[in-house]
Amino acid sequence: MRPFAFHRSASVADAVTSHGADPVAAYLAGGTTLIDLVKLDVMRPNRVIDINRLPLDRIDVLPDGRMQIGAMVRNSDLAWHDEVRRRYPVLSAALLSGASPQLRNMATTAGNLMQRTRCPYFRDNVSPCNKREPGTGCAAIGGYNRSHAILGGTDACIATHPSDMCVALAALEAEVVVQGREGERRIPLVEFHRLPGNTPQLETELRPGELITAVVLPPPLAGARSHYLKIRDRESYEFALTSVAAIVVLEDNRIRDARIALGGVATKPWRAGAAEGLLRGSYPAPPTFHAAAESAVQGAHPHQFNGFKVALVRQAIVRVLSDLTSGQVAGAT
Ligand code: SF4
Repeated sequence: MRPFAFHRSASVADAVTSHGADPVAAYLAGGTTLIDLVKLDVMRPNRVIDINRLPLDRIDVLPDGRMQIGAMVRNSDLAWHDEVRRRYPVLSAALLSGASPQLRNMATTAGNLMQRTRCPYFRDNVSPCNKREPGTGCAAIGGYNRSHAILGGTDACIATHPSDMCVALAALEAEVVVQGREGERRIPLVEFHRLPGNTPQLETELRPGELITAVVLPPPLAGARSHYLKIRDRESYEFALTSVAAIVVLEDNRIRDARIALGGVATKPWRAGAAEGLLRGSYPAPPTFHAAAESAVQGAHPHQFNGFKVALVRQAIVRVLSDLTSGQVAGAT
């Protein structure tokens, strides 16, 4: 392991000042990504700024009905929080489908947003990888790309975003609150992660040195039912081959509102806007669900080993919509 300087922050302002927009400084939250990648020599911070003692571990229901989740709230505390389970069950389910209990006890809300990809070529530290070493190429295109993206990729990178939590947050239309040297700003979750384009090393819209301080959820949709379906190679401690976070509101036997976000198939948490548009105002019926699923994979670009994901995500969308609208999902609200 390479040596680095260590600073334990006393306040948000102290953390932001200590970082100082240094491109090789890193904030340390739960450490479940950073420490792994430092040990693999994939991330090489020269300064680590510990934010574990900052007072960012509260979950508050705001007077206007929104919920504010502190950046340092641990994934397990968020998943099991009574108000989260009651108001946003899709978020609780997504969190509990990720990683292992031990990891969820350490991992934080902000750290989950900042997860790095599980692309094996990124992590092996020897293969060509534009994300790890810009300009070296992409070993996954033409390599073993079974776990990679069919949506949002480019010739520069086809790595999937690994988070379950972020898929639910995309469906819930969350907002990310960040603090920089110029003050606070808010970024819609669906805009927080960048598409790879020609610069896959730039993964988020964070400016250098900005610190995530909270995530804010809008009030839950009245009468909404929601569900998170995750399909993976084994039942626990595994990343998604595909996942679907869906929220629907039924009124007079029609779908009044629908939100669908996908995981495991795209280079960022993926809102299926065209599918949502097809569902709104429609009667909930299999032909509608199949049409919505088809529209969600329009423009998909599979590679040699991941073509199965096109059919898999289509089927997952149909199943979630069928279960939600027939009331077969326990705990749907
Ligand atoms: Fe690197 Fe992205 Fe290619 Fe994986 S898919 S090797 S992360 S450039």
